[in-house]
Amino acid sequence: MRSDYEAVIGLEVHAELKTATKIFCACPTSFGAPPNTHCCPVCLGLPGTLPVLNRRAVELAVIAGLALDCEIAALSRTDRKQYFYPDLPKGYQISQAETSICRNGHLTVTAEDGAARCVGIERIHIEEDAGKLVHEGNETLVDCNRCGVPLIEIVSRPDLRGGAEATAYLKALREILLACGVSDCRMQEGSLRCDVNISVRRSGEETFGVRTEIKNINSFAFVEKAIAYETARQIGVIENGGAVVAETRRYDEARGETVRMRVKETAEDYRYLAEPDMLPIRLTDSDIARLRAQIPELPSARAERLEREYGMTAENARILVSELGMADYFEAGAKRTQYPKLLVNLLLSELLRHCEADPFVSPIRSEALAELADLLGERTVNSATGKKLLSRMLTEDISPRKVAYDEGLTQITDAETIGAWVDATLTELPRAVEDYRSGKSAAIKSLQGRVMAMSRGRADPIICEQLLLEKLKSGDKTI
Ligand code: ADP
Ligand code: MG
Ligand code: ZN
Repeated sequence: MRSDYEAVIGLEVHAELKTATKIFCACPTSFGAPPNTHCCPVCLGLPGTLPVLNRRAVELAVIAGLALDCEIAALSRTDRKQYFYPDLPKGYQISQAETSICRNGHLTVTAEDGAARCVGIERIHIEEDAGKLVHEGNETLVDCNRCGVPLIEIVSRPDLRGGAEATAYLKALREILLACGVSDCRMQEGSLRCDVNISVRRSGEETFGVRTEIKNINSFAFVEKAIAYETARQIGVIENGGAVVAETRRYDEARGETVRMRVKETAEDYRYLAEPDMLPIRLTDSDIARLRAQIPELPSARAERLEREYGMTAENARILVSELGMADYFEAGAKRTQYPKLLVNLLLSELLRHCEADPFVSPIRSEALAELADLLGERTVNSATGKKLLSRMLTEDISPRKVAYDEGLTQITDAETIGAWVDATLTELPRAVEDYRSGKSAAIKSLQGRVMAMSRGRADPIICEQLLLEKLKSGDKTI
């Protein structure tokens, strides 16, 4: 991006709430059912039906608001947002326009320059999702299973200044919603979606430029790409003497471009009216206090604590809190080992690629992994044996300590035993000895390999190397 311009970005994030049933009826919200099997007269908007508000949807919205430091409205109302689209059988969506259940929150993320940036949350409101259009050949089919699935829309202030920052904000938001059980945040299933609002201005300018809105981006990578493209496009328009038009665009993944969809709709287009079928939503202080108590330790606080308590890197702590259940798994194991740093390494560099993500499921019990960390930390087994044990643990529920002892895999640290193998190796491989003594220090690797092989992988590699070096440097020509 040209350094004399600055991008100004605000995000609208839609998250489907993790309720069992829809927001105004008892139809299930589960994803992936055959089309139009999770529908009833209420969510299809048939005449004569009335919405009944799902208590849990309201609670989850409040929990999200509290986790994002919002003020919670003691009283908020719902409004009809009217528009015509085939995936909206009612012809309107029940949303909140005039009042929102949560306001004025914030979320701090790491900015592009490494500093902390506090991103304002303008509001969070509740609404119902629309259905889905499925394109098949020349036909477009309507699936209403998603009609009436509860959503929150989280609207940020235009406080973000670049693509990396925007994705950092989205990731932090996702971690919070996951940790609080508000949403399962599956971008690939559409339960977390993001609209990007973006404008550019010359550096140092006070007023904002005209914004465009890029609708429904469904991956972090596309958010960043769409922002890069749209920033450059708007700068190009201005540099060529044109003016940016307020419009709704979409990101074309195949072309890597944003494409114009329509002129931006305004509040008048939606003909908002107060929803006549709904009572206001009232929340007492004790309701709010009870919900505040349901909020677990938040991911950023937890990452800081993990770093402090277990002496791990900030990077590793961030990874542990990024997936639901992974930090819990780690901490369950960490309680049982003297070597939590080894446990983090085993988990992140060896085990993670064999685990399921979203939510995190490990093929190895945390107790068993902790036992392996102990074996390595105590130097009961060496790291090569540790790897072998771990690969067995992936498919068999074994106690690594028992197997190590039963099958004679424990590390040999006795200097006399290893010394005998070292002597035998030096006699057996005179070429390597020559090479080492004439300055090719890499030759020690093949000597070491031979000693390890003689021990059937059980020698302590550190003692093995020490003894080799001693004997090689002693210049003892008898060997
Ligand atoms: P709308 O319904 O028109 O999309 P919202 O209030 O729901 O309006 O959302 C507006 C979003 O656009 C917010 O996230 C806000 O931060 C962002 N925004 C507002 N003005 C600008 C601007 N000039 N440049 C970039 N983003 C902006
Ligand atoms: Mg918008
Ligand atoms: Zn229904």
